[in-house]
Amino acid sequence: MATCESYEAVVVGGGPAGSAAAYTLAAAGKKVCLIDKAEFPRDKLCGGGLTFRSKRAFERIFKRPWKAELFNSSRDFLFSSNGRFVASYRSRANIYFTMRRSFDHYLLGLARDAGATLRLGDAVGKIDLERQALTLRSGQEIAFGFLIGTDGVNSVVAKTLFGKSFDPATVAFTLEAEVPRDRLPNQGDRVEFDFNVARWGYGWVFPKPDCVTIGIGGMHRLNPDLRHRLDAYFQHKGLDAKDFKVKGQYLPCGDCRRIPGRSNVLLCGDAAGAVDPISGEGIPYALLTGAAAGTAVATALSQPAGRGALAIYCEDYRDVVASFRRAKFWRWFVCPRVMQRVFAWAFRVERVRKWLLVEG
Ligand SMILES: Cc1cc2nc3c(=O)[nH]c(=O)nc-3n(C[C@H](O)[C@H](O)[C@H](O)COP(=O)(O)OP(=O)(O)OC[C@H]3O[C@@H](n4cnc5c(N)ncnc54)[C@H](O)[C@@H]3O)c2cc1C
Repeated sequence: MATCESYEAVVVGGGPAGSAAAYTLAAAGKKVCLIDKAEFPRDKLCGGGLTFRSKRAFERIFKRPWKAELFNSSRDFLFSSNGRFVASYRSRANIYFTMRRSFDHYLLGLARDAGATLRLGDAVGKIDLERQALTLRSGQEIAFGFLIGTDGVNSVVAKTLFGKSFDPATVAFTLEAEVPRDRLPNQGDRVEFDFNVARWGYGWVFPKPDCVTIGIGGMHRLNPDLRHRLDAYFQHKGLDAKDFKVKGQYLPCGDCRRIPGRSNVLLCGDAAGAVDPISGEGIPYALLTGAAAGTAVATALSQPAGRGALAIYCEDYRDVVASFRRAKFWRWFVCPRVMQRVFAWAFRVERVRKWLLVEG
């Protein structure tokens, strides 16, 4: 076996949460290694929609301007309910769309340039919390002072800590396909949402730089027929879903962890369930929790006798996910079938739309 490498902090997962954590630690001068099972650039199933929240988080964490080449932007929204028009809307702020392949690769490059060691194409297999060491599938052993789990919805770090990665009773499931733009010639850069195509969920059409992404998602236990629902949604658009590569993934937008970690192990992003319970927006919360965990570990490393990293992280984490409590309350006015008609009706009123779509 190769000799054991050792780092002050190890970050498992190179999505937005992992890159933000590794960048923050490396920028603070800490010895950090980021591990991802994939070689980059890699694909990640995602609508790739970035609101002002993501843009603001990116600029704050990485201290540089938004890289416009990575995005397509739009202000035109169309809302419908089961294919029937509800409202159209031109927002004040841009919403951005990216291919996660390029966005995540770019963020990972920023972490590497700041000084983080990258270990790509090797998955974390076993984690020994007592010995503070993990073993990669290749057999390489890596010792850590702190471990940051940013390995997404099926997190092995969360599973090691809590026995499961997410709660099947509250998790959502999503299906999505990328459609070449010439198959939807009248779409342009319009963003579409349909409130009523999935139970406790919605459908979306997002205009990305290279294609249009069409998807639906909803609470997993309430949508055993999600594939049929996706087929019907494609038919509304004059398309046959069988012509495209449909992929599925869980989305942990039901419940974020109250305490995101234990001892010297911290969870961020999807691994902590940090996803908005109504919109399913996860990228800004991945960036913010990743950076908060990185800062907490860097602080704890600099003052070894002071408060633990988890206690420091929890303070910022609670602020980042505070809005989820409100969203979980409002979900009862948006998601149940009986409320969807009322919601669709209310959405026709411009003042209600403006109030709901706070644009930052
Ligand atoms: C269909 C769909 C559409 C979405 N649309 C949007 C949207 O439009 N806007 C938005 O804001 N959010 C959206 N989200 C949510 C968003 O994708 C996630 O919240 C976000 O990617 C979370 O980032 P992360 O860094 O926590 O995890 P991820 O981006 O999932 O990254 C996890 C990384 O960990 C790696 N990994 C996993 N296991 C291991 C292992 N054992 N060893 C090593 N590496 C490992 C993976 O390869 C991956 O690179 C969507 C999600 C889905 C499923």
